[in-house]
Amino acid sequence: MSPSWKESHGHLPATIDPIQLAARGARLTGTLPLKSMPRLAQTCLDGSGDVFVDLSFERGEGEKVLLMRGTLRVSLRATCQRCLEGMDLRIEASPWLLLLRPEEGRDRLDDEADILVTDKPLSLSALVEDELLLALPMVPTHELSECPGKVYVRKEMGDGRQQTDGEKKNPFAVLDRLKKTK
Ligand SMILES: [Zn+2]
Repeated sequence: MSPSWKESHGHLPATIDPIQLAARGARLTGTLPLKSMPRLAQTCLDGSGDVFVDLSFERGEGEKVLLMRGTLRVSLRATCQRCLEGMDLRIEASPWLLLLRPEEGRDRLDDEADILVTDKPLSLSALVEDELLLALPMVPTHELSECPGKVYVRKEMGDGRQQTDGEKKNPFAVLDRLKKTK
């Protein structure tokens, strides 16, 4: 695997037949635009950027076992659900999928591995998108130490103390004044 994934710019096909690729031991490395993944793009504030793809299609142990494994990575801007500010969210998925033709599917249902049943070429970006969506956190938030929401909570508490310790602002004073002017 390349230590510097940002430097990869291999040409990736739009559609793939995973089983054919696995039969000849292919490896796909490169980037796909985040824009080609609308379901993933709609979860972030900025739909630009690239998704790093490094997928190996290979024979596993035994003649008939074909699998797809590798690494998918994307950095995107999401909304922190604690403070509602933007945050950088780095998602990494490490798919490990057993590749099966539909007619093979029934015998393999007990297997612990994730299974991709495929009988025709499929969209590479949709496949990558599916795996990244699975890796997406349900509730994205900043690290607590970095979240402005935490600072905000502290500040609120501080202000409250200042009000009781310092000059007391009586919220009803305004009401009293209004009553007097009547
Ligand atoms: Zn936050």
